[in-house]
Amino acid sequence: MNKNKILIVEDNVDTVELLKKRLRADGYDTAEAYDGEEALKKVTEYEPDLILLDIMMPKLDGFEVCKRLKEDESTRYIPVLMLTAKGDVDSTCKGLDIGGDDYLAKPFDYKELVTRIRSLISMKAEREKLLKEEKSEALEKMMDQVAHEIRNPLVTIGGFARRICESLSESDPNRKYLKLIVQNVETLEHMIKKLIELQATVISYREPVDINEIIAKALEEYRPALEENHVDVTTDLMDNLPNISVDRKQIKIAIAHLIENAIEAMRNKTRELNIASRVREGYIEIDVSDTGVGIPRDKLKSILDPFFTSKIHAGLGLTYALKIIQAHRGTISVESELGKGSTFTIRLPVKRPGSH
Ligand code: MN
Repeated sequence: MNKNKILIVEDNVDTVELLKKRLRADGYDTAEAYDGEEALKKVTEYEPDLILLDIMMPKLDGFEVCKRLKEDESTRYIPVLMLTAKGDVDSTCKGLDIGGDDYLAKPFDYKELVTRIRSLISMKAEREKLLKEEKSEALEKMMDQVAHEIRNPLVTIGGFARRICESLSESDPNRKYLKLIVQNVETLEHMIKKLIELQATVISYREPVDINEIIAKALEEYRPALEENHVDVTTDLMDNLPNISVDRKQIKIAIAHLIENAIEAMRNKTRELNIASRVREGYIEIDVSDTGVGIPRDKLKSILDPFFTSKIHAGLGLTYALKIIQAHRGTISVESELGKGSTFTIRLPVKRPGSH
């Protein structure tokens, strides 16, 4: 978990030191600026999650800093907590008028300060999450449309290529080129089919199930593939997991995609697959661990995102799994070490929202 970053803007060195010490002790990362100009420079470099902004400062005062931050598209959504003088109602009002998100009168109570910081940062995170969801929904729609529009011309290309290919004599040198065209069209058709399937994922029927049973079924289905690839399978399944209400078929598909992904990652490597289950903090967790090639650090964040996966073929299975799990209000996370392997963890809430 990354630390939240707070930029302390304050010309009083003692106040800065005190805030810095306490905020760091509370797990925040901090940077400091001692006047308004420095503050504007630091905001760009440091990209804080929140700015603590003193009003009375040399060079640019807090009002001016706040005004400029709120005018700039790249900084306007960073919450600004203004530190005003006690009883100075005019400053307080002015601060809020020009876009300050909250204020606290000096001398302030540290506990109150931290409470406000926490609430402002969580509002910011919530907003960013919403934005991201909107964006990915729009992208998904576009992808679906593209998939449908590519499908028809592809059928035409493939169909005619096949016909021409069949009409040529065995010895015709163009035959091999046409065969290549047909093969490539088939790869594309397969991809498009998967994309359309992905969009059509719906959770239709929920019933209380034992997740361990689903894991066993998914493994059973993959037994031929696992044996063929010489993968050793072990399981650490927790006894007496609470039953949870899910679409049994879809969850099995999600687990199957993770198994398939693990097999893929372990080509030319030691091949040990472990599946574990447990209940923890209101969630059922399922780990699918492999001893495969691992995922590079820069890819780790986007591995589950269909729009950033470099290998769309491999990526689609993971995206499919994620979509199913998200439809159950769950999450998938991944940890990985290059050359050592990866662990994908599915988390499913034990209770459905609204139930008690
Ligand atoms: Mn001051």
